[in-house]
Amino acid sequence: MQRRNCKVDSKWFCYVCKSYMIRKTGKVITNVIRNAYFYYFGFSVSNTHKPWVPKLFCNAYSTISYKWSRGKKVCFSFSLPMLWREPKNHVDYCYFCLMNVVSLNAKKLAKYKYPEVSSVSKPVPHASNDPLPICPGTSANFMETCSSSPTNSGSDFNMDETYLVSQSELNDLVRNLNLSKQKSELLASRIQEWKYLDT
Ligand SMILES: [Zn+2]
Ligand SMILES: [Zn+2]
Repeated sequence: MQRRNCKVDSKWFCYVCKSYMIRKTGKVITNVIRNAYFYYFGFSVSNTHKPWVPKLFCNAYSTISYKWSRGKKVCFSFSLPMLWREPKNHVDYCYFCLMNVVSLNAKKLAKYKYPEVSSVSKPVPHASNDPLPICPGTSANFMETCSSSPTNSGSDFNMDETYLVSQSELNDLVRNLNLSKQKSELLASRIQEWKYLDT
């Protein structure tokens, strides 16, 4: 038995977090959201033209996508988003057809157990020691905090390589800072202690 349309339209679900949008206030997946998704999770938003894939982001994650794109310290609460696959049938494989939304209100929705079906992979929560991705180009410490970023691969920046200061660079620095002989010697000995001076 094949149904042409799902019992509940896929457009009332959030693409990234799986939630049913009870107030029907989803946000269109703009280029900003699309890019944020790509850089955050490492793969693209896809198949949104298919009937079995939601086409909107919920309000909350739309806002987070925009903020994250601007370098704000916000994050998705999962390291892998909801993944959608074509259901084999609409009787026991379809996420949307197994939803029972008739008597749902916001309070019930908060505790609602979404269908467990093989046509979807539910979001995987962040492990507490997972580094949170930082949007490329928005933060200077991006390399330190996000080792698995998709933009990292083309870079030849190497965190393990220590930059050693040459004696002439140190002399320049001392001159620029207008340091006294005593202070410049202190600076040199400290740098040497920290093993940053190329001797
Ligand atoms: Zn269905
Ligand atoms: Zn959502």
